[in-house]
Amino acid sequence: MTPREIFLRALRREAMPRPATGSATSVVTVDLMDAVGVYFPEVHLDAPRMADLAAAGHDVLGFDNVMPLFSVLHESAALGCDVDWGERDRMPDIRKPLYMMGDDIHVPDDLLTRPGCRVALDAIRLLRERFRYEVAVVGKVFGPWTLGYHLFSVQEFLINTILKPDAVKRAMETLKEVTVRFGVAQVEAGADALCLADHATRDLCSPDAYRDFLQAIHAELVERLPCPLILHICGDTSDRIGHINETGVACFHFDSKVPARTARDLAADHLSLMGGTSNFDIIKGGTPDTIRADVADKAACGIDIIGPECAVPLDAPFENMRILTDAVRRVEERAAGEV
Ligand SMILES: [Zn+2]
Repeated sequence: MTPREIFLRALRREAMPRPATGSATSVVTVDLMDAVGVYFPEVHLDAPRMADLAAAGHDVLGFDNVMPLFSVLHESAALGCDVDWGERDRMPDIRKPLYMMGDDIHVPDDLLTRPGCRVALDAIRLLRERFRYEVAVVGKVFGPWTLGYHLFSVQEFLINTILKPDAVKRAMETLKEVTVRFGVAQVEAGADALCLADHATRDLCSPDAYRDFLQAIHAELVERLPCPLILHICGDTSDRIGHINETGVACFHFDSKVPARTARDLAADHLSLMGGTSNFDIIKGGTPDTIRADVADKAACGIDIIGPECAVPLDAPFENMRILTDAVRRVEERAAGEV
C-alpha cells in the first residue's frame, strides 16, 4: 500500500497495515531548510522552492503526506492584508488590520491569481506531478473565523461577536466564500484533502460560540469542498469535539492539550483523528525513547494519523520527526476502528 493510500484510508478509518503518519500543518524547521537548501521567507512566494521544501516532509521526514502552505496568511495576503513574510526563523505576520467590523469586505475578482494564492496552487500542482499517486498532497484553507482574526485583528473580531454579532455573521458569510474558492482551486490543482484551520480555541471561542457561529458553516464547507476535510483547531477542544462530530468533517487534527484517549472517546467513530503529539515535549524536546513511547501510546489509543499537534517550532530538530515516522512504520498491523 502506498503512503497516499494509507493516508487516505486513515482519513476514512478503514483497515490499514499501520497507522498513517502526517500533519495538516507546517513540519518545517530551520535545520530542514538547511538540508533542502531553500529558506523562509522566499519559499512563501516561490512555487518551485515551496514544493521542494514541502516534498522534504516525505522524502526527508518520512510522513505519508506533504503540505506546502507553511504560512497561515496566503489567502489573507491575496485579500489585501499587509503581510510581513518573516525571516528564516520567524513565521509571517500581519503588520496592521485591514478593516473595522461593519466595513464592507472587498473580495477581489483576481483573488486566485494574486501571489498569495497562486504560488500555493502552483506548488500543489508541482507536488502532484512529482509524487504522482505515491504520496498524499494536502492543501490548506482558513475558515471564516480565523480569516476574521487576520482581516479585523483578534481583538476587533472577538469583541464584536458580543457587540455586533450580526455584523460578524455577515463578515463570516463573505469570508466563507473565500474559503470555498481557494479550497476548490486547491483540489483542482491536485490536493487529495484539505486542512480547514479555524482557530476556535477554548480561550478565544466558547463552546456555545462554536455552536452558534461556526458549526453550521463547517458543515456547509464539508458539503461544498470536494474532498475530505481535516479540521485543525489548537488548544483544549474537549468541550467541542461533540459539536465537531456533527459537522461531517472527515478528520480532526487535535492538540496535545486533549489526551489521545480522551480525544478518541469523545470522537468515537465520528472522526478520524490526526496529531496530538506535543510539539514542546516530543517534537522539540523528545528523546528516541520518549518519542517511541509516545507513538505507541497514540497507536494504542486509536489515533489514525500520528504526527505533530500543530505547526512545528522552527527551532525543533527534524531528526525527532524521523524517529517518530520510523516508529509509526513499526507499529503492528491493526484493524480499523480498534480503539
Ligand atoms: Zn494550531
